[in-house]
Amino acid sequence: MSEQRRASERRVVIVGAGAAGDGAAEALRKAGFDGPVVLVGRDPHRGYHRPYLSKQFLRDELPIDRVWLHHTDEYEKLGIEWLGGRTVVAASRRDSSITLDDGRTLPFDVLVLATGGTPRWLDSVPRLANVFALRTLDDGVTLKQAVFAASRPLVIGAGFIGAEVAASARMLGKEPLVVELAPVPLGRALGEEMGEVYARLHRSRGVDLRTSTAVTEWVAHGDRVQAVRLSDGTTEEVDLVLVAIGIEPELAVARDLELPLIAGGVETDETLRAAPTVYCAGDIAAHLHPVYGRHLRVEHWQVARKQGQAIGQAIAGDPTPYQELPWFWSDQYDVNLQYLGQASGFDQTVWRGDRDGDRFSVFYLQDGRVQAVLAYNEGKTIRFSRDLISRQVPVSPEALAAETTDLRELARHPSTG
Ligand SMILES: Cc1cc2nc3c(=O)[nH]c(=O)nc-3n(C[C@H](O)[C@H](O)[C@H](O)COP(=O)(O)OP(=O)(O)OC[C@H]3O[C@@H](n4cnc5c(N)ncnc54)[C@H](O)[C@@H]3O)c2cc1C
Repeated sequence: MSEQRRASERRVVIVGAGAAGDGAAEALRKAGFDGPVVLVGRDPHRGYHRPYLSKQFLRDELPIDRVWLHHTDEYEKLGIEWLGGRTVVAASRRDSSITLDDGRTLPFDVLVLATGGTPRWLDSVPRLANVFALRTLDDGVTLKQAVFAASRPLVIGAGFIGAEVAASARMLGKEPLVVELAPVPLGRALGEEMGEVYARLHRSRGVDLRTSTAVTEWVAHGDRVQAVRLSDGTTEEVDLVLVAIGIEPELAVARDLELPLIAGGVETDETLRAAPTVYCAGDIAAHLHPVYGRHLRVEHWQVARKQGQAIGQAIAGDPTPYQELPWFWSDQYDVNLQYLGQASGFDQTVWRGDRDGDRFSVFYLQDGRVQAVLAYNEGKTIRFSRDLISRQVPVSPEALAAETTDLRELARHPSTG
């Protein structure tokens, strides 16, 4: 009882009102926390589904009211004080307070840091009227109008956002040019072999994908980029440019708080705690994952959402290790990709199904144990592979590859596989 009362007297301040911050605020209330909750976000809009911005929303297949995470009055109903359009410009652990860009100082007992990331930019890219990045809803609205008006959009970078925007543009009948420095698209996330699969997919759908290529010169006319010269010696006319070369984690507030940094983000323990009164979630969190025994920093929607929710529950109750395996998806054309786990350092891949066909799975192994699984139009493999990854049991590649193998059974009795 006294524990309960102490919990409700604490003031929780959440910095960043995106996937993770919004998830934390909502989960606090769902878990019965009745103390003050303040949610501060630089974005003037209430929470929204960012992943739609490169897919259905960009193609105008989804009205804006389906993009919001909540109804207009949800924060009010939940008793969450939402300070939208406000940036935290300073923070101190010693004073247990944050300072907003309007000069106000807010004290906290517990701070949740979920500041996400901002799109990376290259100094050589001119900031002209038809050159864009994509992160916020406002970016998405502007890019949508521009894509509809364009005929030859140029996408710099074939990571997930670049590849999805290129696919969307192609689905709208545009003639996208994609320029990627690496030899394959998505190679950093999925490895060379899957990168080849995606290269074939995009090219077969009519995207002009130039890999191992860079822009060497920007040709502008007035306030617009009109053409680019490429390292393959060609010159291409373009009427829109999207710079999609990844994000920089937003670490300014974390630095002010003097939090430890690792793996490009804020170092947290297994319970997502970065300091005794500070939790951290989402794109900036380098979480000590109990299954992998190392710090993972993942830039994906469901991870941010679930970490935020776990923090809300931890503050309202007891902190427990966060054990969820990272999971993400990407939709390009009619291909649904899902990926469970984390495979950096894999030393073997095992393919299940027809790798030249339109549905298959890939297991990523290290020392004979499954670290991650990728499903290409084959979502059920993901559902059945959780235990294989969580238990980290050694399994035979032949058993994994055989489509007749029951993967859940294999996790329970690996030696029989
Ligand atoms: C176009 C697009 C498509 C995507 N598609 C997918 C997908 O298909 N699948 C997938 O798994 N993931 C996808 N993602 C990634 C996913 O959206 C992110 O991983 C997720 O949003 C991260 O959540 P977060 O809460 O850490 O950060 P965010 O959602 O970025 O929220 C952070 C918030 O913090 C605010 N903030 C930052 N600094 C301050 C400050 N000093 N003061 C106040 N507020 C601050 C920011 O304004 C922002 O609103 C996509 C991302 C984009 C941009």
